[in-house]
Amino acid sequence: MPSTARYRCTSCGNLTRFDVTSTRRTRAYHHFTVGGELSVEDEQVLDEAIESVECRWCGAAGHVEPLDESVDTATEG
Ligand SMILES: [Zn+2]
Repeated sequence: MPSTARYRCTSCGNLTRFDVTSTRRTRAYHHFTVGGELSVEDEQVLDEAIESVECRWCGAAGHVEPLDESVDTATEG
């Protein structure tokens, strides 16, 4: 399963808006109809590498760190 880690910008306190750049390698079932319509099903993430995470508000100036899951995040908004 891909990482679902949450993040926090320690510069502005943002918990909810990030620009995440990642590289994924996936395998999926491409199901075509006879008419050529494609439906992608059963996509599996084989590998995912997070390249960068930037705060949506601070951009490159923000300092984003992974959020410890034990931290109370009930104040998100
Ligand atoms: Zn920020």
